[in-house]
Amino acid sequence: MIVYDLECRAGQHRFEGWFKSSEDFARQQERGLVSCPHCGSAEVGKAIQAPRLSRKGNQMVEAPSRPQQPSRPAEVPTAPVASAPIPAEAVEVIRKLAQMQVEALKSSRYVGKNFAEDARAMHYGEREAEAIHGQTSASEAQELLEEGIAVMPLPFPVTPPEQAN
Ligand SMILES: [Zn+2]
Repeated sequence: MIVYDLECRAGQHRFEGWFKSSEDFARQQERGLVSCPHCGSAEVGKAIQAPRLSRKGNQMVEAPSRPQQPSRPAEVPTAPVASAPIPAEAVEVIRKLAQMQVEALKSSRYVGKNFAEDARAMHYGEREAEAIHGQTSASEAQELLEEGIAVMPLPFPVTPPEQAN
């Protein structure tokens, strides 16, 4: 006996058919003796089999399709923004913060892009400790924090002295 996965052409119903041999199946199919148990259609053929590994290894085998990982959106540096009118109290707080930053930075030296380098040098005692501020990337700031170096983002952008009028 031989078993075939069959499919009717009309309704794509799948069912199994048992035959004495492949010739027997061909003969019965030719005469319209093989009919779909679901809809009675005699338009029946072998269902397309999922590809399988053969011992000869000469059959095409479909690689398992993996759902594509959604590509991560490019990291865009974010800046604080407000889309709604800012309440007066908030404006006052922000003004005070800005003032505090100005005061804090009076005793701090602007080191620009050397920030990470200088911060490390001070942390490892290669130079005298002092308050500095400057520019660094988020990833570099993260590395500094991981090394135990206290850094914090300034709430307001700082105009480099060489650019100030
Ligand atoms: Zn059918």
